[in-house]
Amino acid sequence: MSVLVFAESSEGKFKKTAFEVVSYGKKVAEQLGTNVVALTINANDSSELYTYGAEKVVTVSNDALNTFNAKQYAAIVTEVAKAQSATVVVVDSSIDGLYLAPLVAVDLEAGCVSNVVAAPSSTSPFTVKRKTFSNKTFSNTVISTDHKVIGVAKNSYGVHENPVAGSTEAFEPAIAASGVTSEKVERVTGKVTIADADIVVSAGRGLKGPENWGMIEELADVLGAASACSKPVSDLGWRPHSEHVGQTGKPVAANLYIAIGISGAIQHLAGINASKVKVVINTDPEAPFFKAADYGIVGDAFEVVPKLIEKLKAF
Ligand code: FAD
Repeated sequence: MSVLVFAESSEGKFKKTAFEVVSYGKKVAEQLGTNVVALTINANDSSELYTYGAEKVVTVSNDALNTFNAKQYAAIVTEVAKAQSATVVVVDSSIDGLYLAPLVAVDLEAGCVSNVVAAPSSTSPFTVKRKTFSNKTFSNTVISTDHKVIGVAKNSYGVHENPVAGSTEAFEPAIAASGVTSEKVERVTGKVTIADADIVVSAGRGLKGPENWGMIEELADVLGAASACSKPVSDLGWRPHSEHVGQTGKPVAANLYIAIGISGAIQHLAGINASKVKVVINTDPEAPFFKAADYGIVGDAFEVVPKLIEKLKAF
């Protein structure tokens, strides 16, 4: 028996969530009295995971797997889970993780719970705490199947160092032998993605039109942030749908979320309230977003944002 953790990487570098899921897997393994095995696909330095408690790292290297493909990755995770006799599989709850987890669960006939925020409160029955109802409430869920798939919510369990003397084992999955083909065709390179970003700069209808997004992108660049938008902005075609955040868009669990010209409707807040620090810039002091904000600036975005960029550049 073991706990298998899928440690996601991008362009060879581990995502921060990889360290969080390994930390989580280590905790579960301790609770079950077993070992944690980490799986990496095309990561440059898999031994980094020893720091977070991975006793064994199974590495898959295949250039055709450079782009995430849920079906292929799920087949590999399942194969490794079976080879390692893993009864618990841990992934993250990023967009990719949310695709991956149920596919792995179907293959393993496992119960699957995503958006998990804490280590199991009990392993018999196996009980995990997860975010529910658009992150507004928590629920304790019992997984009663023999195999379990857990999706860990970003920035919830945290990254915990737990150094071990680990070992690495190369693995050639059956899917590689049968020939891998990638399906996903769109990948934005050189830009921070919303899912991975520590900082997200987001703007709404208060920006008046797409021609005014230059300052939003500049602020995002200066901060090394991802840029995002409210739903009407993407519905109007001012920004791509991939930037739409909220209940019906992408979830954001950033360390810093800056909302500019966004009113703070409940459907918007539902998708971003897992972010740690929220800063709001809005001309209307009565905008609902101020109630959810940690810091607020009542002011015109067209005056405040350029000044902010100037100050940050001088910093
Ligand atoms: P507005 O509500 O028009 O707000 C614009 C804000 O900009 C105002 O507060 C205004 O004071 C401020 N402003 C104006 N000029 C300036 C200026 N110069 N400087 C600074 N501030 C200025 N919305 C989402 O975002 N995400 C979702 O996932 C989502 N899902 C939805 C699902 C359903 C089923 C429904 C019914 C709605 C959903 N919505 C969602 C829409 C949501 O209800 C709001 O309509 C939307 O979030 C409002 O977008 P906004 O804040 O950009 O625009």
